[in-house]
Amino acid sequence: MNIGQLIAERDKPFYSFEFFPPKDPVQWPEFFTMVEKLMPLNPLFTSVTYGAGGSSQDATLEIVSHLKKHFELETMAHLTCVGATQEYITQYLQRLRDNGVDNVLALRGDIPKGQEADSDTEFCHAADLVRFVKTHQPGMGIGVAGYPAPHPESPSFASDWRYTVAKIREGADFVITQLFFDVREYFHFVDRLSDMGVSVPVIPGILPIQSLESIRRTLSLCGANIPGKLYLALEEANAKGGAEAVREAGLKFAVQQIRTLLDNGAPGIHLYTLNKAAMCQRIAEEVGAL
Ligand code: FAD
Repeated sequence: MNIGQLIAERDKPFYSFEFFPPKDPVQWPEFFTMVEKLMPLNPLFTSVTYGAGGSSQDATLEIVSHLKKHFELETMAHLTCVGATQEYITQYLQRLRDNGVDNVLALRGDIPKGQEADSDTEFCHAADLVRFVKTHQPGMGIGVAGYPAPHPESPSFASDWRYTVAKIREGADFVITQLFFDVREYFHFVDRLSDMGVSVPVIPGILPIQSLESIRRTLSLCGANIPGKLYLALEEANAKGGAEAVREAGLKFAVQQIRTLLDNGAPGIHLYTLNKAAMCQRIAEEVGAL
């Protein structure tokens, strides 16, 4: 079923869970055990990331198909189009449909290091992929990425908002945001899109901080900001209690973010699960009933 429709029919907030495919199929049974543990949290849908480098594209398809078939979860495959041909995307979409997967997160993907954006390719931007999916698989649900702090390539907030709106005008049903740590950025983003006539749901993406190293790496890649106060609190936690204390502070911060987002009208929470069941269970427990 189209996730946009599922959200429209929903009268209370929800969780959706994002997983990444384990690199080695040997790890898949353990992965599915992890998913099993999260089933009581009743996610509205789950999504599986797609390696732009090529290694995990088939894994995405297989895992997302398995989640649909064996867990009866509504699923969404992330799909990047940078460097892809129309023929490849056509076949990939058909394979998703053949396996009962009705939704894609239509992404451009990162331009490979050392290369420039190429305007001479079949897909330049995510909006091209949205248009393509809409034309070739009109029944599919389409999500797109949104950036509360602008995407690293964007010259300005306004330019990023315009291109997000373009993806929605091409037919996207909902937006999932990049991670962020200041909830005001999310509400500002939602308000600006609303001013520009957008009414599709914008689901905030929440990443629980795991360590100072991982957050430095993530921030350097995705262009998100971290409030100085939060960074200092993490450093203090590290000085007092080491890695475990940082993880605990990160979890508490995520819980607080989720509560604030839901109290102020976010439709649901897209949790970057990092494939960690215990962490997600703990977050849901501390947030309380949705
Ligand atoms: P676009 O929407 O095309 O935007 C990319 C940049 O181009 C932006 O700066 C935008 O403002 C600009 N732009 C857009 N249209 C135009 C235009 N017409 N003219 C000029 N500039 C334009 N990556 C993966 O590889 N695999 C994943 O599974 C994955 N999952 C993700 C999930 C979420 C929720 C998010 C937020 C991101 C995810 N990403 C993933 C990362 C994503 O691929 C990168 O952020 C990528 O650099 C941009 O993808 P996009 O779809 O946002 O691109």
